[in-house]
Amino acid sequence: MNTDICYLNGQFLPLSEAKVSVLDRGFIFGDGVYEVVPVYSRRPFRLAEHLRRMQRSLDAIRLPNPLPDTEWTKLTNELVARNGGDDLSIYYEVTRGAAKRDHQFPVGVAPTVFMMAGPLVTPARELVENGVPCITGTDFRWLMCDVKSVSLLGNCLLKQSAVDAGAAEIVLFRDGYLTEASASNVFVVKDGVILAPPKNHLVLPGITYDVVLELAAAAKLPHEVREIRESEVKKADELWLTSSTKEVLAVTALDGKPVGDGKPGPVFRRMWQLYQDFKQQVMRRAA
Ligand code: PMP
Repeated sequence: MNTDICYLNGQFLPLSEAKVSVLDRGFIFGDGVYEVVPVYSRRPFRLAEHLRRMQRSLDAIRLPNPLPDTEWTKLTNELVARNGGDDLSIYYEVTRGAAKRDHQFPVGVAPTVFMMAGPLVTPARELVENGVPCITGTDFRWLMCDVKSVSLLGNCLLKQSAVDAGAAEIVLFRDGYLTEASASNVFVVKDGVILAPPKNHLVLPGITYDVVLELAAAAKLPHEVREIRESEVKKADELWLTSSTKEVLAVTALDGKPVGDGKPGPVFRRMWQLYQDFKQQVMRRAA
């Protein structure tokens, strides 16, 4: 499956030929935002919601959106059409463009607009059935974690500490409360109730997070959005990670101790099935 074609500043071209300036503020300062949209059966999933989140990110860093949503939609469809494969992940990046290195915003500089496609790799059956181990850590990132910024050094350092420990993710706490993980949102199940931390400046407002809460509401599964203490996470019956690529994934060990009975729990299995059914019915509806 070939996913070699990308888009850069008005042109579709092979990834190996796409070049940006070393003065690009994305490279120099991490001054840009990004999005990742999953594509199922060649249909972008919740594109409007992803574009809305990108607009929020751009507003937060005071970078005017270079394209209207109609154009983003057209480019997305064209990128899908020019690449192979049924299920893709589309990456979008907008930076403040290339300018002489100076912290303040440059004047009259065109933003850099980049999009690429890759295969959408969702968790293998074995991971869904057994869950994954995670570690815990202190959330030392900045205070604008709701912005999908390309400045991801904090997230990269945290993720690597998980990898170094043989874990899939690191579940983060700030001031004694659950925030999220390095590249996923986190849900807790206690006494049959699904708990989710509120969407605020300390977490990325996940599109999958919203889907999971909508599915819980539609299936009348008890759920609550509220601050979750670290001690509650450590005593959880179930713990889940969610993201566009992980979908819903059970955490079965935390810092080397089993979560619940150490197997993906019944509420997880229900939610995983609801998510798969939803994908089948909504995302893969007959073309
Ligand atoms: N939090 C962080 C820090 C992430 O990087 C991601 C994935 N990009 C998420 C949460 C999940 O977001 P989504 O469900 O939109 O993929």
